[in-house]
Amino acid sequence: MPDLHPYAASESNSSGRLFFESSPDYRSEYQRDRDRIVHSAAFRRLEYKTQVFVNHEGDMFRTRLTHSIEVAQIGRSIARVLGINEDLTESIALAHDLGHTPFGHAGQDALNQCMKDFGGFEHNLQSLRVVDELEERYAEFSGLNLTFETREGILKHCSTQRALELGDVGQRFIDGRQPGLEAQLVNLADGIAYNNHDVDDGLRSGLLSIEQLSEIHLFQEQYDIVNAAYPTLPQRRVIHEVVRRMINCQVTDLIETSTARIVALAPQTLADVRNAGQALIGFSDEMAEHNQRLKRFLRNNLYQHYKVRRMSTKAGRIISSLFRAFIDDSRLLPPDYYDRLDLLDKGQGSTGQARIVADYIAGMTDRFAIGEYERMFDPGQLT
Ligand code: MG
Repeated sequence: MPDLHPYAASESNSSGRLFFESSPDYRSEYQRDRDRIVHSAAFRRLEYKTQVFVNHEGDMFRTRLTHSIEVAQIGRSIARVLGINEDLTESIALAHDLGHTPFGHAGQDALNQCMKDFGGFEHNLQSLRVVDELEERYAEFSGLNLTFETREGILKHCSTQRALELGDVGQRFIDGRQPGLEAQLVNLADGIAYNNHDVDDGLRSGLLSIEQLSEIHLFQEQYDIVNAAYPTLPQRRVIHEVVRRMINCQVTDLIETSTARIVALAPQTLADVRNAGQALIGFSDEMAEHNQRLKRFLRNNLYQHYKVRRMSTKAGRIISSLFRAFIDDSRLLPPDYYDRLDLLDKGQGSTGQARIVADYIAGMTDRFAIGEYERMFDPGQLT
């Protein structure tokens, strides 16, 4: 790895792990975080979780797994240029969606609605819960015992109330401080990845058209350039060429804007970054505006497309039916949940029970949730 700036996260300024462990012999602490994430069950399940399209709609679309890998790729490229910690960037990127429910945002909204009397459901918090508590892989501790910096990066936002309950990792929301640069970076790399791959998947699925996208400056500008340079190129390749150039424009703007902000503020330490009063990683105002327009466009034309809405409505119904059934009778949950159920039931009553049900549902893949729904409600499956 190239030399890190002193304000980048590193082993010398790390806030360490919750449970002390001696340093790995041949890896950095953040490589170890990444490796633990890659070996986790929640990470493998991302392969069968929806981004926009339900997992079984086609093998060509993005899933949460390929999305996370794209975020890691974009994040690492930028981290290296900026001289900040590439390993940490990668580990945050690969972990950032671990807490996602099946069926993308429709699933998250439905579960949040189900949990409204029990503290709500938020996928950021759930990602943290996965790495802090839910993974059961190590003899010495529950969860993955990741470094503070990876955990801080996973927790993109949270309410003050929640922050108070979370302790050290929530403290910055109370104090109004920034996270490290690697966390700031992944937050934006996430947006670059999904905005652009949703354009690509939207066109591939036929739910979006090139004509519609002509109102989006980011798209149209690159489309004109590609068409002028390669007038006979088949449409499919034109689209890929445009999308890759769109990503490049956004990445370039982010690198240049962030570099200028870092130079202007001249942080000396990680503490300077945290106390800067604003994020140092960011887009120019112009690019931020273009991004907002693209986001709005995708919301109105892709995420609200009637075919996607039908899927979302159905997905929401599956989630809330499962939730209600498990809340009414928690002994319908698989037996591995009973110990925790008894424990939380004693401590927190129905709120604890609801949290276990939410953990179970959030951990499902799209296809498992559909199968579970059939097992629970299909009269043809009484045997
Ligand atoms: Mg994401």
